Amino acid sequence: MHAYHDQPRRRTVVVGGGFSGTLTATRLLQFADTPMEICLLERDDGSRYGGIAFGETGTTWDHMLNIQAGRITFGRERPEDFLEWANEEADRTGWPQRWKYHVFGVSCVVPRRIYGQYLKERLHGAAADAQPGVELTLLHGEAIDLTPRGDGFVLKYTPADPEATAATLNADHVVLATGHLEPVYRPFYHRVQGSARFVADPYAAGARAVFDALDPDAPVLIVGSALSAFDTVVSLVGAGHRGQITIVSRGGHMHGTYPADHQHDIWSVRRPPFLDDETLTAGSVVAGVRAEYLHLRETAGVGCDEGVFAERVMKAWEPYVIELLQRLPPGDVRMLLAGAAPAVEPPGGTAPAGGSPGAHLPRCGGRRTWSARRRRRPPCGEPLLRGPDAPG
Ligand SMILES: Cc1cc2nc3c(=O)[nH]c(=O)nc-3n(C[C@H](O)[C@H](O)[C@H](O)COP(=O)(O)OP(=O)(O)OC[C@H]3O[C@@H](n4cnc5c(N)ncnc54)[C@H](O)[C@@H]3O)c2cc1C
Repeated sequence: MHAYHDQPRRRTVVVGGGFSGTLTATRLLQFADTPMEICLLERDDGSRYGGIAFGETGTTWDHMLNIQAGRITFGRERPEDFLEWANEEADRTGWPQRWKYHVFGVSCVVPRRIYGQYLKERLHGAAADAQPGVELTLLHGEAIDLTPRGDGFVLKYTPADPEATAATLNADHVVLATGHLEPVYRPFYHRVQGSARFVADPYAAGARAVFDALDPDAPVLIVGSALSAFDTVVSLVGAGHRGQITIVSRGGHMHGTYPADHQHDIWSVRRPPFLDDETLTAGSVVAGVRAEYLHLRETAGVGCDEGVFAERVMKAWEPYVIELLQRLPPGDVRMLLAGAAPAVEPPGGTAPAGGSPGAHLPRCGGRRTWSARRRRRPPCGEPLLRGPDAPG
């Protein structure tokens, strides 16, 4: 058997330094027990650590995570890790006044870029604590080719430095963590593509400069009414926009609004009993989810509008999702994802009155904040948007 230092150093290249790439690299640094170089290759420095969702390129301080502070820990073995980091360790030097002295509680909303900073600091912490011979290398460039060679791979990439020519890297293992696909380009884009007033991707580098440069009273048209539309409104309002914003929706869909007095409580509910069945199938999961949802409505009452109730139940069930995915045969998981989405949507009808299910965990420690989040609009009195399909 080789002594630790006699072992050859392997190289693992992680392509894409966003959320998944940063998490993968951190875990490798924590668990590697033989010498290893972990190279994290990212093409956009502003997306490093957080990617589109949590990086600096794609977010402002007004873009919020859609999961509460008590639920976004880095590792399942330390559920309190994010809160400890945010309240005790985070470097708040560059934080705006609104967040600088904020005390994060379990139910708080969190700016997405703070989460990116958390991922960054945990990655570098893991690199500092790694075994001797286990090292992190950050690379700035875009992967353009990957070929198998011998037992490993050769990765070709274009370094960010415009003077540099394409570089190659030999790797024993390669992890592709390149994230979201490019946005879909609609056929009519070619007519407006050259215009300085057209933004195809609101998360792209340069998009915020367009929002900042915009005449604050100019009318703005947003094509599409889903989550990115709300992020775009938040960016525009943050950039000082006062003019009319019109949202066009092909399907007439518009996300709901939290009630004005909404608090982001996290509920604790019992473990859904169907999980105790020895064998799970897609059918038993659908039936079990329906039965338990109805049970919660009937026994514990709603106490808030039906959409909020459903969201709270879904979030309360999050701890069981991994068990479910591990126990279900992959074919049944695919069947559920493809065909059974309505099983977890709230049934129609009015919400029964009464208390909320389970115990409520502590609320936000600091002042109340609203969330312009991925799933719902902020619970402000006046709607931010007025469009043909906007409620109110
Ligand atoms: C706008 C937005 C908001 C979201 N908000 C939430 C939220 O609030 N809560 C939540 O749970 N989830 C949210 N999500 C989902 C979240 O993004 C994903 O769960 C997760 O962050 C995706 O991580 P990823 O590593 O796959 O992709 P990313 O984090 O996007 O990382 C991919 C990285 O790969 C890089 N890359 C791509 N190609 C190459 C290449 N060839 N060479 C080098 N680098 C490359 C990209 O620049 C990018 O940084 C959101 C998603 C979006 C788009």
